[in-house]
Amino acid sequence: MNDITQQIATTLKATRARRGWSLTLTAANTGVSKAMLGQIERGESSPTVATLWKIASGMNIPFSAFISAPEQHEGVLRRTGVPAPVSAGENAMRVTPLFPFDARLGFEMLVVEVVAGGASASSPHERGVIEHVIVVSGELELNIDGVWHRLASGDGMRFAADRPHGYRNSTAAPVRFHNLIHYPARPATAAGPDEDASAVEFPGDRL
Ligand code: MN
Repeated sequence: MNDITQQIATTLKATRARRGWSLTLTAANTGVSKAMLGQIERGESSPTVATLWKIASGMNIPFSAFISAPEQHEGVLRRTGVPAPVSAGENAMRVTPLFPFDARLGFEMLVVEVVAGGASASSPHERGVIEHVIVVSGELELNIDGVWHRLASGDGMRFAADRPHGYRNSTAAPVRFHNLIHYPARPATAAGPDEDASAVEFPGDRL
């Protein structure tokens, strides 16, 4: 089992256990089959990026939780270039955390690459989640609620991501964009009395 597969398996299993979510409930909330979830947890299957997004959205946890440990940094966090790409078993789209989810700031920043001719649909995120898409190189088509928008290099778009959205590259060259995803703050009253405070690292975790 490679590091990514292991990290995905561990995160999924731990999140389910912490919430007491059965495989059946998790399947219902994410749209990913029980069989597939079981394979992922056992490290027998490396999910596609699309599947991983379904799980992250359905469980209301940041995508980067699955592929890198949440980091808490004081001061300066420097990233040089793009870290080793994470394809998680799919080639059409690669996602790499540039700045992994930071609970204090409520966002994660990903580098997303879509190959020539590639496309990926995203199911709606938790209510209140806001995405920023900034094209670094290439040309991207961004679908928001059924409407396609064309973004050239240097263009940016911000939108409410709690509705269907998707990415498409109709060109002959790869496109790379930065995806800053902002998660709403958890209501102070959301944590129940039996919630382990140290485990509440993600927005909406309990809901
Ligand atoms: Mn999304």
